[in-house]
Amino acid sequence: PSAVSVRNVSKRYNDVEALRDLSLEFPRGQLTSLLGPSGCGKTTLLKIIAGLIKANSGDVEVNGVKVEGPGPDRAFVFQDFALLPWANVLRNVAFGLELRGVAKSEREAIAEKYIRNVGLTGFERSYPHELSGGMRQRVGLARALAVDAQVLLLDEPFSAVDEQNRRKFQEDMLALVQNEKKTFIFVTHSIEEAVYVSDQIAVLLPRPSRVSEVIRPTSFRN
Ligand code: ADP
Ligand code: ADP
Repeated sequence: PSAVSVRNVSKRYNDVEALRDLSLEFPRGQLTSLLGPSGCGKTTLLKIIAGLIKANSGDVEVNGVKVEGPGPDRAFVFQDFALLPWANVLRNVAFGLELRGVAKSEREAIAEKYIRNVGLTGFERSYPHELSGGMRQRVGLARALAVDAQVLLLDEPFSAVDEQNRRKFQEDMLALVQNEKKTFIFVTHSIEEAVYVSDQIAVLLPRPSRVSEVIRPTSFRN
């Protein structure tokens, strides 16, 4: 069964046609990459699924419910992580729960757990500017995981990690993904990365984007 269904979605920005009649299914508990060249509409599709922007036509369903805007069933990890510069790691990770009105002691206990999961124990009192790019990325991921949304939407989650650390970071992410049993949707322009991390790869053609192919690398990985 699909966690997310995208049906006949079209999106235009003034004179730029970003997506045309795009349909795609995202299986529950799996990791799907949206792969395609820069400018093909990957971020646009992710933001439409997140409910951050509206499609001009077509619709998106999450667990059978039509998306009308952002909701607690989806968490978005921004390309720039969108961390609060004035808040430490603990507060940043707990922030999504703070917005949802979870009490301080409870949200900090939950945040601690995810800080541990992403390997940042000991950095709770550090501020974003004191951390490396990869560590900031993990803070953003921990915050998204902490709100316990079923669907995680990640925009180029490895973009800030340098080449030497990227593979390790991808492996860490994969282990997290496999343990979390959530539905992950990743944006990437790297074929290598998509093949390495995904259960399913949706290949988008240049604008106006359509899905040219859905590939399942897991079917030839084992
Ligand atoms: P990708 O994530 O694949 O790089 P985007 O979804 O960011 O692609 O962008 C798709 C196209 O839509 C690009 O041509 C981009 O310039 C355009 N676009 C994206 N956001 C806006 C916007 N807010 N206003 C106008 N054009 C936009
Ligand atoms: P990047 O991706 O930016 O190269 P990583 O997130 O892969 O960095 O960091 C590699 C490791 O280096 C971290 O897990 C951490 O142990 C250490 N490290 C990086 N920056 C710092 C820092 N500011 N303070 C303490 N340790 C750090």
